[in-house]
Amino acid sequence: MKLNFCSLSSGSSGNCYYLGNEFHGILIDAGISATAIRRFLKNMGISMQTVMGVLITHNHIDHIKGLDGLTSRSSVPVFTTEKVWNSILTPKKKIARDCIREISLQESFHLAGFDIEAFSVSHDAPETIGFHICAGEEKITIVTDLGHICQTASHYIRAANLLIIESNYDEQMLVNGKYPHFLKARIRSDHGHLGNHQTAAFLADNFSDNLSHICLAHLSKNNNTPEKALQTIHRAFSEKGIILKSHQRIAVLNRNSPTNIIGLIDQTD
Ligand SMILES: [Zn+2]
Ligand SMILES: [Zn+2]
Repeated sequence: MKLNFCSLSSGSSGNCYYLGNEFHGILIDAGISATAIRRFLKNMGISMQTVMGVLITHNHIDHIKGLDGLTSRSSVPVFTTEKVWNSILTPKKKIARDCIREISLQESFHLAGFDIEAFSVSHDAPETIGFHICAGEEKITIVTDLGHICQTASHYIRAANLLIIESNYDEQMLVNGKYPHFLKARIRSDHGHLGNHQTAAFLADNFSDNLSHICLAHLSKNNNTPEKALQTIHRAFSEKGIILKSHQRIAVLNRNSPTNIIGLIDQTD
């Protein structure tokens, strides 16, 4: 049985990722409309009815925009921490009570055949979490919004075979760009986003042969390009003498459209 990963959308205009096999799967974040999520899944031959749950990283709109629509029509369970729930549920944002599932940091839970752990990352929301998802031998870590890589995040990133990690901005484009000073400072802060150099340097310092796929995520529309993100990581790797093996891939996830499904493993039940 093949395990597939697909990014439906990645960036500040919306984040949504799918992980699953031919029978069932999960979504990570729902930052595009429920209609778009259903349409993208359908185009890939995936029915929303096979989605067993949605994991939510934090309350920013680019991660929860489609949540009301998904839960009102599909009543799919949604998993996040109490703190993140408290920041999502407002008088304007109502989620059906029976869809709410509360999880604890670094306590494994089981969903759709996966063992999943949430962990805290540094970002400017009341709480932001990353997810480490185990499917047998395959380990997937997803961290899309973080200003720096703390020890906990580092542990889960280094444990991944498939890593979805933010590479938000090119330093020069951000510094020379049109954003106001306060916004540039926020993005570059420890509670903002990871720049290309931060991500590339961390991965070059912590590279292992177990890492089969690196997906660069949450690229800024105004302060980055896919080419710059890729060049930065390839340069950092070559400076460290790292040569990718034939099974290892680095990809940039599209901002507004799905990125091809990555078939990970043949799972045996
Ligand atoms: Zn975001
Ligand atoms: Zn955010």
